[in-house]
Amino acid sequence: MYSIDKSHKLDNVCYDIRGPVHKEARRLEDEGHRILKLNIGNPAPFGFDAPEEVIKDVIVNMSQGQGYCDSKGLFAARKAIAHYYQQKGLRKADVDDIYIGNGASELIVMAMQALLNNGDEMLVPAPDYPLWTAAVTLSGGHAVHYICDEQADWYPDLDDMRAKITSKTRGIVLINPNNPTGAVYSTEFLLEVIEIARQHKLIIFADEIYDKILYDDIAHHSVCSLCDDVLVVTFNGLSKAYRACGFRQGWMMVSGPKQNARGYIDGLEMLASMRLCANVPMQFAIQTALGGYQSINELILPGGRLRKQRDVAWELINQIPGVSCVKPKGALYMFPRLDPKVYPIKDDQKLVFDLLQQEKLLVVQGTGFNWPSPDHFRLVFLPQEEILQDAIGRLARFLKSYRQ
Ligand code: PLP
Repeated sequence: MYSIDKSHKLDNVCYDIRGPVHKEARRLEDEGHRILKLNIGNPAPFGFDAPEEVIKDVIVNMSQGQGYCDSKGLFAARKAIAHYYQQKGLRKADVDDIYIGNGASELIVMAMQALLNNGDEMLVPAPDYPLWTAAVTLSGGHAVHYICDEQADWYPDLDDMRAKITSKTRGIVLINPNNPTGAVYSTEFLLEVIEIARQHKLIIFADEIYDKILYDDIAHHSVCSLCDDVLVVTFNGLSKAYRACGFRQGWMMVSGPKQNARGYIDGLEMLASMRLCANVPMQFAIQTALGGYQSINELILPGGRLRKQRDVAWELINQIPGVSCVKPKGALYMFPRLDPKVYPIKDDQKLVFDLLQQEKLLVVQGTGFNWPSPDHFRLVFLPQEEILQDAIGRLARFLKSYRQ
């Protein structure tokens, strides 16, 4: 008898969105149970289709996509991405600075692998989208979490961010709009982060994958458009605004003083070459998606399906005794708080496990997003209103049994 172990590189790598509770949900499904899944930001299964012209373009161009392409991606797709950032106010957006990947996920890992030496530090928000912490850890780095302040609409605490900078800090991760909190940052705030990065020669990693999913007339500002003397790596893709998660198309753009980052850019090019290129036929969707009719707006404007679902879910969640939630201004998630005086929870993974067992409802525990205390959870408001009502009703019933 012998056992084959995983690499020590994975010892502290966590991705709880698809972790043990998710596995248990699959097991229950195999047993024949129907699980209400409010755990993953995957629009298609909830009836949010990708724009028809995007799907058509992929089909029409399929035969053109048989071979490998440039490691950074198809020229026309990258040109469309460059134009997108030019329209957002970035003067110097060049095709050569854009890398297309199999989802932003692949590029997030690549961006960390190319940069970090063992022991280097990366400032990552708490709560975060946990791929960021996982990618830093996998790359030998140390994710140092700066706190986002629930009392301040979940804006990052800049004093905490400043206090956590050391000689080993290499960059600041900003997730805007934020997953899991739904916060959207103002220009003034972004300028303050830029100033911190400028002073300490840090790179800003701007994950803007929800930049078109905005509520309440709030505007999104791309951090790359607000400075030209700080290196910014911006991430985005087709998964959310174009509801095409399964296409696995994301991109990353390097902007700012590239002359100071030649070595890093060499590293990025090396890693992009090693994986040859991203899925080619799906790259044909990018130009059409960015240049075409932006149907996402119909979903987020007043009366739009996503906007209505956000409102219903937020109102119902706040009606549960001891539960409060900051209203999300963007993205697809809510990150409610369970008052510890009402719900003295020690282990929030157990909480969501019990919720799954008792109510067949799947959400993700807050500590899965590197939130330091077991008093939050994330839910996705993608299901139709009636389903959200059912789900939050189940949650309320379950929490009653947990109350002090
Ligand atoms: N960044 C954030 C903040 C996300 O929420 C997600 C997916 O949920 C990703 C990146 C990954 O996106 P992709 O599907 O392009 O890999």
